[in-house]
Amino acid sequence: MLTGQHAEVRDLVRRFADAEIRPVAAELDEAERFPADIFARMAELGLFGITVPAEHGGAGMDVLSYAVVMEELSRGYASIADQCGLLELLGTLLIAHGTPAQREKYLRPMLRGEARPAYGITEADAGSDVSGIRTTATRTPDGWRLDGGKLWIHNAPVCDFVAVLARTDKEAGRRGMSIFLVDASAPGFARGKKEHKMGQRASQVGALHFDGIALPREAMLGPEGRGFHIMMSVLEKGRIGIAALAVGIAQAGLEAAVDYAKQRKQFGRPIADNQGLQWMLADMAKDLQAARLLTWDAAARMDRGESATAASSMAKCFAGDMAVAHTGNAVQIFGGSGYIRGFEVERLYRDAKICQIYEGTQQIQRTIIARELLRG
Ligand SMILES: Cc1cc2nc3c(=O)[nH]c(=O)nc-3n(C[C@H](O)[C@H](O)[C@H](O)COP(=O)(O)OP(=O)(O)OC[C@H]3O[C@@H](n4cnc5c(N)ncnc54)[C@H](O)[C@@H]3O)c2cc1C
Repeated sequence: MLTGQHAEVRDLVRRFADAEIRPVAAELDEAERFPADIFARMAELGLFGITVPAEHGGAGMDVLSYAVVMEELSRGYASIADQCGLLELLGTLLIAHGTPAQREKYLRPMLRGEARPAYGITEADAGSDVSGIRTTATRTPDGWRLDGGKLWIHNAPVCDFVAVLARTDKEAGRRGMSIFLVDASAPGFARGKKEHKMGQRASQVGALHFDGIALPREAMLGPEGRGFHIMMSVLEKGRIGIAALAVGIAQAGLEAAVDYAKQRKQFGRPIADNQGLQWMLADMAKDLQAARLLTWDAAARMDRGESATAASSMAKCFAGDMAVAHTGNAVQIFGGSGYIRGFEVERLYRDAKICQIYEGTQQIQRTIIARELLRG
């Protein structure tokens, strides 16, 4: 499925990840450090805005390339891939719905690594059910006044701007939501506490508060009342990214498990000589490849301009479950060592778990797949 060009991109990102990401992953996890230095290198290498057209400062590649890049970055360390995914999401939003002025102000600086983005949908009472959001934008003579807050927002502790989903019409349900681009420097903008997470601990996640932020009319992204639909459509590409990220985590786990099984000796021979372990490794490799192909299929559909709604949910759901199951098996193959901090598989198991939760939980993915199946 990959062309020579995709393979070149894969090899380039793999070399970068092996040289500059994988060696520091354990330290980043332990310190929960935001790796600004690595992100600066990624901006230099053109690894932000993979599908953003070159004339807007992106890499101008296809969605399949994006999947390939995400897998390789994640094989190095998932928190690094996560940042690439976040920029891709914001880049897609700005390309599809941004005005030239919004692109100039946010897109180019973001892709150069000079402006850190976030997107804010989730609230205390609105997780899977986005229609429960309470953040409100009220019309004023000059634009809008934003009040409310968001929870568990990736990059919240470090972001320079955030795309906020807010209610602009209380009576209109999903058609009463709009997106606003909000500067972190705006009066009334405040950051909540940084969360300490199970995995992907170098990713910075926290709350945001909006207390009467005065927004000009030009802060609205896309048409009024279309915010819910715009966010949901962008999340389809986001799910392909998370599927690829999960595949990358599982690939790192498989490589570590194979190496360990060959060198660890018990009963006078490598543990890899036991058929019980061989079959575990075989199942890991088989399911991993199935997840990768589902991910590439969803990406290729998007590249062909076909609907990828069900395909991206299938890929995210299958790959996320596969990554949790098989990083768990990698821990098992390491025995007690796999449970000890500092061994890569222990971190991979923790890093995989969130793939079943964010960008829509696995239950919500199944709901989307079923809805597509049953559609008239
Ligand atoms: C590390 C991290 C980073 C995140 N980053 C962001 C971000 O950058 N921006 C952002 O906006 N959000 C972000 N989120 C929020 C994330 O998208 C939500 O946590 C997720 O959508 C689930 O919402 P919830 O946690 O409120 O769970 P809930 O919706 O309360 O769900 C709880 C459980 O009930 C199940 N459930 C709920 N409804 C149904 C249903 N109809 N059918 C079957 N099962 C159901 C769920 O699958 C889940 O198992 C992040 C979360 C985390 C933990």
